[in-house]
Amino acid sequence: MLSIAHAATGAVIATHTSSPIAIPLILASHYALDAIAHHDAGTGLSSGKKTRKTALILGMIDLILAAILVLFMYPPESITLTSLTYHLGHPAVWGAFLGLLPDFLESPRNFLKYEPAWLKPINSFHNSFHHSIPSVVA
Ligand SMILES: [Zn+2]
Repeated sequence: MLSIAHAATGAVIATHTSSPIAIPLILASHYALDAIAHHDAGTGLSSGKKTRKTALILGMIDLILAAILVLFMYPPESITLTSLTYHLGHPAVWGAFLGLLPDFLESPRNFLKYEPAWLKPINSFHNSFHHSIPSVVA
């Protein structure tokens, strides 16, 4: 699923749910969204239909759009370094981060071919939910 969907969902859950229950809900939302048939920046990477460079560029664009959307949905008081730093404590920001966490944990394997042993079961669990479909455009 696109980062923009995971981040927005995590931000909404974090801002509408009390903290202790928000964490498992946000993580569950990530796996639920990944279970929906989708095409994303990483689709085609494991089959060799997409290069790591292309997937990384598309992934970064997706992440930037996700950050812009969350900041648009939950704007800081002003666009100053102090305000943006203070905004990092906003539930929407950590909710968005948590909503993306399974993909962040998988990224060293996808882009660096590095997967520590402790991450393998987490990434395997994550992959068991993925339902990617080929692109209909290219
Ligand atoms: Zn995922």
